[in-house]
Amino acid sequence: MQMLKIEHLGIAVKDLGVSIPLFEQLLGSPCYKTEAVEREGVKTAFFQTGESKIELLESSNDSSAISKFIAKKGEGIHHIAFEVENIEAEMKRLAALGFELIHQAPFKGADNKMVCFLHPKSTNGVLIELCQEIK
Ligand code: ZN
Repeated sequence: MQMLKIEHLGIAVKDLGVSIPLFEQLLGSPCYKTEAVEREGVKTAFFQTGESKIELLESSNDSSAISKFIAKKGEGIHHIAFEVENIEAEMKRLAALGFELIHQAPFKGADNKMVCFLHPKSTNGVLIELCQEIK
């Protein structure tokens, strides 16, 4: 079993109103979707770049993970998301290898995906998202 590709990079931003036009200019492609993920307290905006995507994340409340991330580190790359074929099997494989899962079960994330995250303390400081397309 292996991860299929880098599905997207997640970038924490303070204000989508500023960052969406900035990334539209940078990438030369329009934002194709914005979506709130209530459970995570974030608003997201997606851009397609070839096979991969960019996900901008803006906090929608002060206690969200994005809000804490920006307070600590400022805006910037927040996570790398890998597409997997079977998220539950992949979570089991990684847990057995000693990786720390933040979520014990996958949940519905943005952009029609089931997702879960690995704690950065078990992945050299990089927050890793696993995502599987909902069919
Ligand atoms: Zn993501």
